[in-house]
Amino acid sequence: MRTVYLDNNATTAVDPAVLEAMLPYFTEQFGNASSMHAFGSAVGAAIKAARQQVQKLLGAEFDHEIVFTSGGTESDNMAILSALEASPERDEVITSAVEHPAILSTLAHLEKTRGIKVHVIPVDKKGMLDIAAYRAALSERVALVTFMWANNETGTLFPVVELAELAKEVGALFHTDAVQAVGKIAIDLKSTPIDMLSLSGHKLHGPKGIGALYVKRGVRFRSQQKGGQQERGRRAGTENTPGIVGLGKAAELAMLHMDDEATRVAALRDRLEKGILQRVPSCFVTGNPHERLPNTANIAFEYIEGEAILLMLNRAGIAASSGSACTSGSLEPSHVLRAMDIPYTAAHGATRFSFSRFNTDADVDHVIEVVPAIIDKLRAMSPFWAGANEKAKDFKPVYA
Ligand SMILES: *Cc1c(COP(=O)(O)O)cnc(C)c1O
Repeated sequence: MRTVYLDNNATTAVDPAVLEAMLPYFTEQFGNASSMHAFGSAVGAAIKAARQQVQKLLGAEFDHEIVFTSGGTESDNMAILSALEASPERDEVITSAVEHPAILSTLAHLEKTRGIKVHVIPVDKKGMLDIAAYRAALSERVALVTFMWANNETGTLFPVVELAELAKEVGALFHTDAVQAVGKIAIDLKSTPIDMLSLSGHKLHGPKGIGALYVKRGVRFRSQQKGGQQERGRRAGTENTPGIVGLGKAAELAMLHMDDEATRVAALRDRLEKGILQRVPSCFVTGNPHERLPNTANIAFEYIEGEAILLMLNRAGIAASSGSACTSGSLEPSHVLRAMDIPYTAAHGATRFSFSRFNTDADVDHVIEVVPAIIDKLRAMSPFWAGANEKAKDFKPVYA
């Protein structure tokens, strides 16, 4: 059976060139970078090269602004905890209602255990931030503002450079969870007031369990993990050399492919959306159609369950998602779509198709071919669908 992987916002396939770059660091190059011999220095040089590859992808000014971590979740936790520790006179944090759980759960925990005040800024129906509410929350009590660059469920982009400028007016640090943006859109950090940025290897065809936190030179930083002096004392623990080398290679490849692939992948995504919207009644694309990642389509099919759609897609060889992987498995619709005030009847049936540079035109053809029949079948069984939608009566599906 033909298989189509369209869940690249959950994780991506490791690029074969990434794996190849990593392999020697499991075998001959097993040294510890801190060691005073040839085994150590070879590994130290490889880590430095990877740091420079990540620096380049981010447009950072210095390679030492990159701190390697175990992934996006650790980077997010580190940024928040460091910012609060570095500004003990400030006890408030600003974030948005549509952040990843790595941000929202961490902040909820700090609110409960440390009495930190968290301002959760709402979004509109397209997932765009309420800037007036953000301005109103800003004050000199705010230690950190953290807004994601690109939303993992809808692909909607926040204007993070502008948002960072506003944070600077009150002397707050600004962090962005850019796990979904890095490798997909051009980033040039040296020309921005962004203080910290999180990224993750496995979202850009690198390995799992490796990521980085960018920390702008001069930014107040407090290490959270204590131990050795690795990463200039900012993240203790012997370096994950294969992972770091793999992330560096993935960053280099992302740079190399970005311009061409952003255009090609966006065309695939647009064709998928158009194909489905033309053939299926009562469905719509969520998020901001103009300010979004090139690779993400989130389509809400009204009056059916996302879980049922995913099961049937899976049977047809198609891997998609009903929102963030962390919330699937529960029957509550995603917090992102609820924050966008998408009605329950549509949020339940929201399905995310996320592309990567490994997807092809044939993948899109297959999805467009099977989705209409799947939706039809599920709606025929849905008590909510019967007579629910007037518009649908006059709809002439193209595939019929
Ligand atoms: C995947 C993801 C994370 C978590 O990254 P891990 O490396 O899996 O810990 C954080 N934020 C966003 C927006 C993500 O998509």
